[in-house]
Amino acid sequence: MNIALIAHDKKKDEMVKLISSYQEILKEHSLYATGTTGKRLIDETGLDIHRFKSGPLGGDQQIGAYISEDKIDMVIFLRDPLTAQPHEPDVNALLRLSDVYEIPLATNMGTGEILLRGLGEGLVDWRKIHHHAGRSLLNIEF
Ligand code: PGA
Repeated sequence: MNIALIAHDKKKDEMVKLISSYQEILKEHSLYATGTTGKRLIDETGLDIHRFKSGPLGGDQQIGAYISEDKIDMVIFLRDPLTAQPHEPDVNALLRLSDVYEIPLATNMGTGEILLRGLGEGLVDWRKIHHHAGRSLLNIEF
């Protein structure tokens, strides 16, 4: 599975904690992250992560483009709901595309934990069927 990880600045510590806790599961998957989130995760967990640009510089849009190309199977985006973000339109676009393409999406630690446990237990394997079936499960033309 291809998993995208994004955390706003005040949520980066939580992201490091979350990803460290599920490292054993996550190392079996391909990980993608926005620039600064990715750097922290690489430095603090040693996981292999493809880094896009920093979120405010286009990283959210790059991940959004991957979603639209069916290259992302899960998004964990720890948003800071209490701080205005200069790139709010990009954040909204990424969340919207996750919904357009029915991608499992967590925007806080509580749901993030459930998704990662689900990932470990194979609950997201329907994405493989989806890929295998030529994306026919979702009535979306790619
Ligand atoms: P960052 O971007 O990981 O580069 O900080 C996250 C964001 O703010 O969207």
